[in-house]
Amino acid sequence: MNLNGLVDLHTHTEASVDSTEPAINMCRRALELGLSAYAITDHAECNRWFPIEHYPEAVPNGYDTYDNRQDFERSLAASTELKERFKGKLLVLSGIELGQATHDTASAEKAVSDPRLDIVIGSIHQIRGQDDFAFIKYDQHEADFVPKLLEKNYLELLELARWGKFDVLGHLTYNLRYIEGNYGIKVDMTPYGDIIEEIFKTVIQSGKGIEINTSGLRQNYGKTFPTPEYVKLYRQLGGEILTLGSDAHCAADLGKGIEAGAEIARNAGFRYITYFKERKPEFIKL
Ligand SMILES: [Zn+2]
Ligand SMILES: [Zn+2]
Repeated sequence: MNLNGLVDLHTHTEASVDSTEPAINMCRRALELGLSAYAITDHAECNRWFPIEHYPEAVPNGYDTYDNRQDFERSLAASTELKERFKGKLLVLSGIELGQATHDTASAEKAVSDPRLDIVIGSIHQIRGQDDFAFIKYDQHEADFVPKLLEKNYLELLELARWGKFDVLGHLTYNLRYIEGNYGIKVDMTPYGDIIEEIFKTVIQSGKGIEINTSGLRQNYGKTFPTPEYVKLYRQLGGEILTLGSDAHCAADLGKGIEAGAEIARNAGFRYITYFKERKPEFIKL
């Protein structure tokens, strides 16, 4: 695989709770793949930014990790150092995947103002009053649980889009990884069409972008987040800023699906793919 000219702008390293890969291994792999730009975007969940004592309502559940500001610091320190170390060989970008920014906008705004950042991905992994999407037992609820959850999810995504202090909105249809991919619950997306259109319009008007997250291609779901028809809709509404990301959590997955993502972008009418340096968009011809 040679991804010369392409980028992978969504990846995780050992500074993320769900990865054990040293960032240096990711950089070496990115170099091997011939990526034009490679961003380290470790998780930092704003609703768990501080130690658990900060959240009197929180019930320890064995899977939520707190004090995410430490992960943020650890990741940025590593990526800033690697950016220097690989200078002239590989464009390493310092990023963050900021989860649930609207649940704690004060912490989110402090985080995104860090001058070391090149790119901020704004994501939602959890909506208010619910577990992280990865840990919900979707088959142990009433039949209307999933439609209600999805409606709240897209409304929270719209709220996030309106907050707007990120560069790209992460994996728009992400929770289908679990709902459809792992639980086999078929989802009718038509009820959320208007909200999704509003999300796109909001992102476009504020000069932000979306990503094609290719992780679903190598998982049970088998498709990108979002699927090609949403990328087309985004383009038709005037969307210009589009990034590609594998969401790799290990070096072996780095760059996976990026060529397929680029093809989806081309088919949707995109002539350029975007990366961010010092929070400013740069365009690469597709
Ligand atoms: Zn994510
Ligand atoms: Zn991610």
